[in-house]
Amino acid sequence: MKQIIFLTVLLLTLGVFTYTINRIIGFFRLTRPFPIKDYGKRFKVMLEVAFGQSKIFRRPVVGFLHALVFWGFCVILLGSIEMVVDGVSGTHRILSVLGVLYDIIIASGDVFALLVAISIAVFLSRRLFFRIRRFEGIEMKSGTHIDANIALSMILLLMLSLLGMNIFYYNHQLAEGDVIKGVYPVSSLMAPFLPEFTTSSLGSLHEICWWTHIFLIFVFANMLPYSKHFHVFMSVPNVFLSRLDPLGKLPNMDSITREVSFMLNPDQTLAAPVSDVPVERFGVKDVEDVTWKNYFDSLSCTQCGRCTAVCPANITGKRLSPRKIIMDVRTRMNEKGPGMINKGSDYSDNKSLLRDYITEEELWACTTCNACAKECPININHPTLIIDMRRYLVMEEASAPGEIKAVFNNIENNGAPWQFSNEDRLLWAKDFEIRVK
Ligand code: SF4
Ligand code: SF4
Repeated sequence: MKQIIFLTVLLLTLGVFTYTINRIIGFFRLTRPFPIKDYGKRFKVMLEVAFGQSKIFRRPVVGFLHALVFWGFCVILLGSIEMVVDGVSGTHRILSVLGVLYDIIIASGDVFALLVAISIAVFLSRRLFFRIRRFEGIEMKSGTHIDANIALSMILLLMLSLLGMNIFYYNHQLAEGDVIKGVYPVSSLMAPFLPEFTTSSLGSLHEICWWTHIFLIFVFANMLPYSKHFHVFMSVPNVFLSRLDPLGKLPNMDSITREVSFMLNPDQTLAAPVSDVPVERFGVKDVEDVTWKNYFDSLSCTQCGRCTAVCPANITGKRLSPRKIIMDVRTRMNEKGPGMINKGSDYSDNKSLLRDYITEEELWACTTCNACAKECPININHPTLIIDMRRYLVMEEASAPGEIKAVFNNIENNGAPWQFSNEDRLLWAKDFEIRVK
């Protein structure tokens, strides 16, 4: 009976999860290509930044607590896999055949369950009882805070149910005089403080915690793709897909590079392979213009606000918040994506990412200092997206602030950003006596 109920719940979970993932894959298909290479370098970055949590430690206390949660999830995941196998096959602690390795896995999971529970309790209290500036901003609506609090509460319940499961199992096996499979450094210390229960009650309480824990895992897995906590799945691959170029290097636009090289050398360029993707628009106006990596960034963003907290434009009171730029891509895709999938890529709802979500004022406030990209714990690169939107404004609409337009005119007329003609360029040296040997 237990197996039938488990299989039904598991199939339901997988069904909903598959539907959600298909929906997200459909959204990815609407985006533009983004080439990925240098897998070795990427693996190194992933080990250092994702598994080593190197950027998170820039804020030592909160960073350490967050790292505990991340490492705890990695360890506890192994125990959860065992629960699924047990649930499907009707076995009990099937991985105990691994011997010492099993003891290590279970002992680590038991310790991390407590550490993660403490860390999450700290995170929740910070959100509920303190005013943390990093969690404020025009993009942080009440729904955003509710989403974060629900996800944190669920993680706390997951850890408490895991600890409960371990404690009741430990006490039950002791009462029965049976072998205790695995090692429980935390639960064995807590077990004596529990009230006296009959052996059958201990068995029932263990079952209740087991079902609560697995049920929460299933609900959590299906909730994540709709929550900011999707980063639980997405942040590690997102770090693997990090931009490897130096932060200050501006990526060239393929279409423009081709045009320029054609002008410089028509014969050679005609022989060169041309991308299959037709250029319909320069830069980014709406979600169909972003690359799949931009969309991946938006799904991975933890909304931690570290980028906005270091943004000089934001600090000096401008409207720009790099976190908002990334969040807006996800919101806009959720809004326009279904229409484009159902009615075709020409679908228009008479709105766009640019202007309806992100204003020109925000875009031109960016100094391209890259502080946001440097600070982001999962290596999201905000300035490239901001520049692509500016490229749209300049190249498609000739729209730019007056000062920048003057610079463009000067470059066009004088070959330099200043208001002087080419002939006058050396006037500053006219009274110098220059000896030529
Ligand atoms: S690059 Fe732009 S968005 Fe990022 S921190 Fe600097 S000014 Fe802010
Ligand atoms: S872009 Fe990065 S730093 Fe900014 S909120 Fe998202 S995860 Fe945090």
